[in-house]
Amino acid sequence: MPQLTYWRRPRNWPRLVRASWRSSLQFRTVTISVALSGVAILLVGVYMSASIGNDLFQSRLSQVLLESDRATSAAQSLLDSSDATDRVQVQNLLSAARTSISAASSSRLVAVLRVPGQDSSTVAPLDSSTFGQSTGVIGAELRTEVQANIGDQFWQSVTLTGDDATTVPGIVVGSQITVPVAGRYELYIAYSLKDAEETLLFVQQTLGVAGVALMLLIGAVTWIVVRFVVTPLRVAAETSQKLASGDLEVRIPEKGEDVIATLARSFNGMADSLQSQIRALADLSEVQQRFVSDVSHELRTPLTTIRLAGDVLYDQRASFAPATGRTAELLHTQVERFELLLSDLLEISRYDAGSVELESEPTNLVYLAEDAIDSLRSLAESKGSDLRLVAPGGYLNADVDPRRIRRVLHNLIGNAIEHGEGKTVVVSVDSDANAVALAVRDYGLGMSQAEVAHVFDRFWRADPSRQRTIGGTGLGLAISREDASVHNGWLQVWSSPGEGSCFRLTLPRVAGAVLQASPIPLPPADATADATAVLGDAGQMPVPGGGRHD
Ligand code: ADP
Repeated sequence: MPQLTYWRRPRNWPRLVRASWRSSLQFRTVTISVALSGVAILLVGVYMSASIGNDLFQSRLSQVLLESDRATSAAQSLLDSSDATDRVQVQNLLSAARTSISAASSSRLVAVLRVPGQDSSTVAPLDSSTFGQSTGVIGAELRTEVQANIGDQFWQSVTLTGDDATTVPGIVVGSQITVPVAGRYELYIAYSLKDAEETLLFVQQTLGVAGVALMLLIGAVTWIVVRFVVTPLRVAAETSQKLASGDLEVRIPEKGEDVIATLARSFNGMADSLQSQIRALADLSEVQQRFVSDVSHELRTPLTTIRLAGDVLYDQRASFAPATGRTAELLHTQVERFELLLSDLLEISRYDAGSVELESEPTNLVYLAEDAIDSLRSLAESKGSDLRLVAPGGYLNADVDPRRIRRVLHNLIGNAIEHGEGKTVVVSVDSDANAVALAVRDYGLGMSQAEVAHVFDRFWRADPSRQRTIGGTGLGLAISREDASVHNGWLQVWSSPGEGSCFRLTLPRVAGAVLQASPIPLPPADATADATAVLGDAGQMPVPGGGRHD
């Protein structure tokens, strides 16, 4: 499974995510929902964590202050009730007071420091502290406040360091006590906030886990909900794609009464009417095609008879009176044109009916061009045109139907002679690895942009009153275009008023191959009026790159 291995490679992930973001409505909706709810959950989580943390601290602080107040009062009472006078007694008294403070305050960290600035006394016990590693945490500011205020409690948030060098947040509460004989002492009791911190950590972890679980849940719910909406939309999109590509039978399943069902019903209604209209049009067009084909066939028999009779009259025209002789000649040419028109009509109706079979064989386009030039040489001479063949390439065979290509060539060269105003007509044949091209360039009247747009239309002529020498039917280029398109080829035109025209036929060398470029440039290399030059559309193929050359 190549798809799976592609997914497994991490370097493909950004591209895959980008592709999914562009192509999947479901992916986009789920991602946006999860991201937005993630932000909301994060904000709520941060707020909850901060407010719970604050609450835990405040309640612990009031508890600590209460406990330390109680312990200090108890110690002070103990000290006040003593009648110790010498150094050892005072020392013992202070130790007892400290023990009672420790017991009452449930804290082992107690420091007793003599307030500086008092008369030195030999009985006054030395400073003592059980703060251990945390000795330095009592700030100077706290000390100043405690030293200056008797009977008040002050506190400070600190970081306590345990014996094993671990740190925990804590609170140090300070107040003054008075020791008989020895004077005033600062008393500091430190309380650990480890429990509160652990509780907060637990709450934060729970909030984190709950937040992630909630995001996953929101993602899953959105995925399911969006799936409900997207699945029918996807079916509708796929169905309309099939309909657009010509499968007129497809319909969307209609279920329920909701908006999706309404969409399905109206889509199906549209498809029904589209199908019936296309059928009606197809029927009509078939009737028309059959009519044209039938009429052409039906006309053939009487026309053959007329032709035979006309030929007899034409052969005897010398024995007729001059006016009758001219009538016989007129009849002869018009019957010939009629026959041509009929065979062109039959050919085009065959194309319309889609019943054209290509009889491809390896063909040399240069030889075909030589044949066509030879057969039209007398016409060219009568017009005073010089027919020239330029063939630097194109001698290798191409897979084409020679009868059709000969017909295209005949038509293009014939038109060039007819509209070439007696000037030279150049036929070029060239080829590359994939394509063979043939261009017919004349230096005659040329056509305007508006005329070029219609040049492949059936029965269109730039000047309907123009005298016709070789009896064109107005179907020549329409059939040539069909001939090119049945070969998967291009028939394109460049023309400029006063500069002449150039028709280019490009055919793939191998039957059925897709053309990419043409070996002959269009507009032709000798086109000077570039600004006014126009590139006619072959009708069946876009000009690659939308440019003037291929
Ligand atoms: P027909 O030649 O039988 O009239 P076509 O389909 O071959 O029909 O050509 C249609 C029209 O295109 C012509 O009547 C003419 O006006 C115009 N046309 C074709 N080839 C040229 C050309 N080489 N130069 C100028 N006009 C042309």
